[in-house]
Amino acid sequence: MHDKSVAQLVAGLRDKQFSSVELSRCFLDRIARLDSAYNSFITVDESAALAGAAAADQRIAAGDAATLTGIPIAHKDIFCTSGMRTSCGSRMLDNFVPPYNATLIEHFNRDGAVILGKTNMDEFAMGSSNESSYYGPVCNPWDTALVPGGSSGGSAAAVAAMLAPAATGTDTGGSIRQPAALCGITGIKPTYGRVSRLGMVAFASSLDQAGPMARSAEDCALLLNTMAGHDPLDSTSSELPTEDYCAHLNDSLQGLRIGLPREYFGEGLDAQTASCIDSALRELEAQGATLVEVSLPHSQLSIPAYYVIAPAEASTNLSRFDGVRYGHRCANPVDLHDLYTRTREEGFGNEVKRRILVGTYALSAGYYDAYYKKAQQVRRLIKQDFIDCFEQVDVIAGPTTPGPAFALGAKSDDPLAMYLEDIYTLAVNLAGLPGMSVPAGLVGGKPVGLQLIGRHFGEARLLNVAHRFQQATDWHLRRPATGEVA
Ligand code: GLN
Repeated sequence: MHDKSVAQLVAGLRDKQFSSVELSRCFLDRIARLDSAYNSFITVDESAALAGAAAADQRIAAGDAATLTGIPIAHKDIFCTSGMRTSCGSRMLDNFVPPYNATLIEHFNRDGAVILGKTNMDEFAMGSSNESSYYGPVCNPWDTALVPGGSSGGSAAAVAAMLAPAATGTDTGGSIRQPAALCGITGIKPTYGRVSRLGMVAFASSLDQAGPMARSAEDCALLLNTMAGHDPLDSTSSELPTEDYCAHLNDSLQGLRIGLPREYFGEGLDAQTASCIDSALRELEAQGATLVEVSLPHSQLSIPAYYVIAPAEASTNLSRFDGVRYGHRCANPVDLHDLYTRTREEGFGNEVKRRILVGTYALSAGYYDAYYKKAQQVRRLIKQDFIDCFEQVDVIAGPTTPGPAFALGAKSDDPLAMYLEDIYTLAVNLAGLPGMSVPAGLVGGKPVGLQLIGRHFGEARLLNVAHRFQQATDWHLRRPATGEVA
């Protein structure tokens, strides 16, 4: 059962080949047996999962099942789950049990999906390697000496190791697409505002967006159907009606114009990764798409702009963790100042502290215009580059990352080297566009991803291109050896 796609599991439940309790037990057993090698889950509540599965089975028997009724889903530990710890990968929230569900969790509950558990992540979603988690690093199922990518590395590893059929992630600067690429799975970051942010612990509010991570574009479409939609409780959520993301999966690619940004294929891109991307593009061309060279002239500025804007927003969002309202509180504070400083000293890890310092500095009087305001102006130019490109092409394509997964520890002491990992993903968030990563090959046995970027609210088109690609290739069907005894 564990190697079936979500689409196959939906059919299996409907045809009564197995029950949701059996299915959920299968994944819970795999997590118990195998996850010590990957550390992809922070919290698993077996009895809650099985109770959810039993309720789903009743719903299926009663004939009022929704598509995802009974399907076990792993959720990034950034989404508030009522009664279940939500740590955000931080000591600060190690003891935090939310009194309410994120809207995204409510959507999955409405459709009767089962919460399998909460996945490991970089602390407060800051990172590209999943090494900044308070709960320890996640290991890549393809080779446990490698990082899985971050910050949704637990979700990516769990799906790749078949510990969950699908998972949720969040992407502020690449955190769905980059770990999806490095773990050989498929993930889509929808347009900013397509999925509610209510109850998703805030990192950089103008960039954060939740999306699905699964083993195929079709499975991502099934999950996105449940996740997307206007939320009156999130003022940044879009009122534009959602569509059926499965409806256009099989549309022909004849006449599709795919833009290849010159800046995404130059210096810094690993040669073997480049050749995987090239073969993927040839496949799309064979299906009738036209490849057009385009330019995103401000690409180089996305790292400096992002690493001012994201820390600035993070520094204000994280000011709520003060030891007073929720989360960690230091022992025996002598006065209020001691309470704040020791709580934050103890509760936050190094990368989070680094960003709070940078962000607070960038927002300070006297520096605001030079840094934050300037970065926002650059952001506008980056967005304009994409708007101009989409005059000529329907979809933009390139690599998701500069190369395959790197070794654990290789970049953890060098923040700038780590930030370079995000070179192809950040601009998409700065522009608010949808982007996805699709498995496109193996380099030395390690997966790499093809990135597809669409127009605002063009999720259906991206999923269509990815699905057609997956109908003709089998990269998304390759699986790591998960160390099982037969
Ligand atoms: N790697 C980027 C960062 O560390 C993006 C993280 C994310 O998308 N959450 O900020």
